[in-house]
Order: sequence, then structure tokens, then C-alpha cells
Amino acid sequence: MHHLNDKKIVVASHNEGKLREFSELMGPFGFEAKSAREYGLPEPDETGTTFEQNAYIKALAAAQATGLPALSDDSGLVVDALNGQPGVYTANWAEKPDGTRDFAMAMQKTEDALRAAGAVQPADRTGRFVAVICLAWPDGHAEYFRGEAEGKLVWPPRGQLGFGYDPVFLPDGHLRTFGEMPASEKHGWAPGQPEALSHRARAFQKFARARLGSP
Ligand code: IMP
Repeated sequence: MHHLNDKKIVVASHNEGKLREFSELMGPFGFEAKSAREYGLPEPDETGTTFEQNAYIKALAAAQATGLPALSDDSGLVVDALNGQPGVYTANWAEKPDGTRDFAMAMQKTEDALRAAGAVQPADRTGRFVAVICLAWPDGHAEYFRGEAEGKLVWPPRGQLGFGYDPVFLPDGHLRTFGEMPASEKHGWAPGQPEALSHRARAFQKFARARLGSP
């Protein structure tokens, strides 16, 4: 009943950066992964207060609209000195009055909040990216896979790669921000990297081990 034997899945996202990363992560498994955008689906309102709730809202909407299993990602940046903000509201911090998103502004807002909190030293600027992947079927059955990447918030932003808040996130144990890393390094696939690195790659690895078998 709840299987992926048809090798067909909908990726329940309209976010270009996430879709690019999912297509790279899914690549080796031979799945036909079409996005919610390609199906012409609307973006549901993310009314939940946890990553899990919002991931379920997105995956369920796409599964019910297409009749296929759907995979969503709800993610965000959790900053310790800001009591976990922006958290599930990470995308909202980038929203402008006209409805478009501006991540330079969102990163500046995060920096202003850190300064207001007196978090200037690296040790006070810890946080993590969190991704919750939800796999849902049209009947409402759902499975969750969570990945986290610990790091520090840096200023000014560094690098033009990746998307969203990547230029201000320096993952622990690394010298380059996510914005300075090619995708393969952000995933944790570059030579010499022992394991998945980004929150999304870590969540995806759990999903792949549970549901996709060997690449
Ligand atoms: P949502 O999951 O649609 O609520 O949006 C998550 C927000 O977190 C996006 O606006 C991204 O900018 C940010 N985000 C999530 N994952 C990443 C990442 O891998 N790099 C940079 N920003 C991210």
C-alpha cells in the first residue's frame, strides 16, 4: 500500500534552490521526480508551528492533488541567541511587502537581531539548519526524516553559491560557508568528506536508506 515501487514521486516544493538540490540527491536512484510546480499545483499556506506540521501540509496537498506519493521539505535556520528564530519563519523573514523574497534583507535582519542580542563573538553565534522531509501518500499516511547541520552565523555574507541564507552559514569543522561551497561539498559528496553535510542531505540520506534502497 505505502510503497514507492513505481519510482514516481512528486517533490512538493516551488523553491528553486530546494528543487535543484532534490534533483541532485535523487539523481542516483533512478526516480522520476516531478515538482509541484511542474504539475501546476498551488503553494499551500504553511500554517503549522513546527517543521513537521508544515512539511506534512505541503506533502499531503501534493499527494492528494496528483494521486502520487509526495516528498516535501520544510526547513529553516534556528539561531540559539535568538531563542530559535527565525525557525519555521525563515522564509517569512525574506518577504517584502510586494510578496517577493529578498534574502540579502533576511540575512541583514538576522544579523541586526544578533547584534541587538549582543551576540558578536563566534561562540555566541551558534545555530543550525534544520530540514524535515515528509513523504506522504494520498490517504494521509506520512513518514518523516529530519536532518540538522550545526554551525555559526558569520558576517558579512560570503559566497554566491547555493541559495537562501547559505552565505552566512559556516558549518562546524569547515572553513567555507555553504555559499562558498559547490553543491557536491554542501551535500557532503566531495572527495574526502566522510558523511552527508547539509541538513537536507542528512534528512535525504535517512529517507533514502529507509525507502529507496541502494543507488
Ligand atoms: P520553507 O521550508 O519553505 O518554509 O523555507 C525554508 C527557508 O529556509 C527558505 O526560505 C530558505 O531560504 C531557508 N533555507 C532552507 N534550507 C536552506 C539551505 O540549504 N540553504 C539556505 N537557506 C535555506
